[in-house]
Amino acid sequence: MTDRVVDLRSDTITRPVVAMRMAMASAEVGDDVYGEDPTVLALEDRIADLLGQESGLFTPSGSMANQLGIRLHVGPGQELIADELAHVLRAEMGAAAVFSGISSRSWRAPRGLLDPAAALALMQPDAGAYQVSTKAIVVENTHNFGGGTVQPLEAIRALRGATQPLGVAMHLDGARLWNAHVATGIALADYGQQFDTVAVCLSKGLGAPVGSVLAGSRGLMAEARVWRKRYGGGMRQAGILAAAGLWALDHHIERLADDHGRARAFSEAVASSFPEVIDPAHVQTNIVIVDVAQGGWAAADFVSAAEQRGLRIYAVNERAVRLVWHLDVDDADTDFAADLVNAMLAEAAQGS
Ligand SMILES: *Cc1c(COP(=O)(O)O)cnc(C)c1O
Repeated sequence: MTDRVVDLRSDTITRPVVAMRMAMASAEVGDDVYGEDPTVLALEDRIADLLGQESGLFTPSGSMANQLGIRLHVGPGQELIADELAHVLRAEMGAAAVFSGISSRSWRAPRGLLDPAAALALMQPDAGAYQVSTKAIVVENTHNFGGGTVQPLEAIRALRGATQPLGVAMHLDGARLWNAHVATGIALADYGQQFDTVAVCLSKGLGAPVGSVLAGSRGLMAEARVWRKRYGGGMRQAGILAAAGLWALDHHIERLADDHGRARAFSEAVASSFPEVIDPAHVQTNIVIVDVAQGGWAAADFVSAAEQRGLRIYAVNERAVRLVWHLDVDDADTDFAADLVNAMLAEAAQGS
């Protein structure tokens, strides 16, 4: 009946636009393992500046940027803490444990919202010879599985103020820090300066095909460069990829507001018929979590039924699905998604 397919599984699915591909094709390049790719160096400097940090390091993925950051702060047998929904704990395949021998614990965090008191209550900076010592805390902003939640700068500052004197490092998983910046108007550097290391992704809402950047002090980034090579992340004429990132910084940051507006419009359209499955007040950026279990659906069934009708989404757990807005989705796609989700919820309500 319909040939339309709207893909809201993730903002990673975007394809590079023509102008971005042109920038990639004409990029000046060199061997970046020798530190000789001018486009990579330009991207690293520019992002470090934006984040209020000294130095940057280009990586193939956000997971590698996070894992390098964590590795710098936490040694084997030491502890990393993060909230229970954190990407570094839930979606990086145990990398901190596998590659770095790092142990981890987490605190409860409804919607992923940062609660400094909960983090501080869990932290044991100097646990002596009998328990594991906490060496770093990860904060995710915006929060992915929390539903695009923006972390309040005041909460981040409070956590920094309490942990810095104790020598517990802070790493920001800022895969979508751009979205937090656009949603709040708070400068990227105001967030970035609160952390020892910051990871940002170019391949999500910014629409680059590949790439993330880790930023921190010059000393830490020199160390991270060694670990990146050790992890197999030393790339050669990577300026081809970095050029996409530079182009995205120029053209794709401000437009994230469109994604936020569409996510909000979708959530309002669904909440007006089914307020029990979504609270539009929780939709701050480009991610919407719908509690389809409240509407009589198992998340996995909802995902496959939606797919058959032209809407691709992702089940975050047994109860809820996630929809992510991005640059390949327009207003008409958004209306289509809202109408379809409402129709499916109405069918479940009639069936029960
Ligand atoms: C996507 C994402 C990452 C990194 O993902 P890669 O697929 O490895 O690039 C890290 N943190 C969060 C919160 C993410 O959403």
